[in-house]
Amino acid sequence: MNQTGSGSLKAEDRQYIWHPYSAINADLPIFAVHSAHDVYLKLEDGRELIDGMSSWWCAIHGYNVKTLDDAISKQLKNMAHVMFGGLTHEPAIKLGKKLVEITPAGLDTVFLADSGSVSVEIAMKMAVQYWQASERPSKQKFVSLKNGYHGDTIGAMSVCDPVTGMHTLFRDILAENYFAPSPACPFDTPCSEEDTTELEAILEQHHDNIAALILEPVVQGAGGMKFYSPDYVRKAKNLCERFDVLLIADEIATGFGRSGRLFACEHADISPDIMCVGKSLTGGYMTLAATLCTRKISESISNNPPHVFMHGPTFMGNPLACSVANASIELLLSSPWQQRVSSIETQLKAGLAPCIKLEDVADVRVLGAIGVVELKRAVNMSQILQAFVDAGVWIRPFGKLVYLMPPYIINNEDLATLTKAIFDVINDGKHR
Ligand code: PMP
Repeated sequence: MNQTGSGSLKAEDRQYIWHPYSAINADLPIFAVHSAHDVYLKLEDGRELIDGMSSWWCAIHGYNVKTLDDAISKQLKNMAHVMFGGLTHEPAIKLGKKLVEITPAGLDTVFLADSGSVSVEIAMKMAVQYWQASERPSKQKFVSLKNGYHGDTIGAMSVCDPVTGMHTLFRDILAENYFAPSPACPFDTPCSEEDTTELEAILEQHHDNIAALILEPVVQGAGGMKFYSPDYVRKAKNLCERFDVLLIADEIATGFGRSGRLFACEHADISPDIMCVGKSLTGGYMTLAATLCTRKISESISNNPPHVFMHGPTFMGNPLACSVANASIELLLSSPWQQRVSSIETQLKAGLAPCIKLEDVADVRVLGAIGVVELKRAVNMSQILQAFVDAGVWIRPFGKLVYLMPPYIINNEDLATLTKAIFDVINDGKHR
């Protein structure tokens, strides 16, 4: 037995598997998970880790949740999958109806997709087809925000931050888009005129070529874990209206309560023209995402040549995924999720606050069930992962960012263990 819990498993993993954002020959520690329940990941060697990541922000209800397990088992008895071209089924219809009901007003049509990145591709294609249908075919480019992250497929990458998204590596295959500065106005402060000046200038100069502005409302996630003012989102929406540019809200990370509101657009009280959801849509059980748009967009595309929306993935509307998404939304909405997220927020603030005194810490910030400790330099990934696992927690930083996004069901004691582990590991220099 070693740190994976099984020497041969680790060796076979090394031989055959390429992990996310990694080198095939990387000597990073890797941990084999045997099973998971509630907020605990059980490793092959029997150790249990408290999960601070919700499996990349998806597992809002934790793991092995009976109602979600039951929803999949029940659906499995009917069918695991059926094609969505020319056929439909109750789980997808129920999900579409529910998403329209709970998302901001005006988002009336749902296009189901396989993953977050794909839902962003779909959103971008919808925007372009909408302007084609509106006889404005020159509107094919996008404007997005620096420090933004929208996914790893080629179209989605083209609207991610050009530096952290390593655009130079792919320059000949990525479409060239426009980038406005990352919003500088903090979450609880209104924006000044200057905060949107560059965005306004880009829109003023290039609106004839711009199909849409895409942004992550209020929380920039994988591009920097930054929170910004809802007022910026409102101003951006107004600018989009003024310059005839659609607004795409990427709520893949923020959707389903993470920022304290069901959708982050609600902080700004706006409805985007197109919205992407994914990640916790299924409570982290299966891969599923959705792109919602206004009826004006879906009808314009459908009523004008070529009279179809040009997208249709093989696994579109997978019934197992739709069933578990329905069960997850029901479970969320019937739970005291606002209270849970708000109490996580209070505890994250108190638990992470002492970190600001540590020499290597640049900033500590919390919003909803998101707690971030930003260091002055990038962490030593091997060291810090091992230190966290030794402390009985699963926390996987990236770059300078050590953060928590726990399942909403976490209790105070486990959350205290997570925040204490972050303080102790940085205090002991185990991040270097
Ligand atoms: N948009 C945002 C805001 C995200 O956080 C992510 C995933 N981190 C994506 C898009 C891409 O989603 P996926 O990994 O499911 O393709």
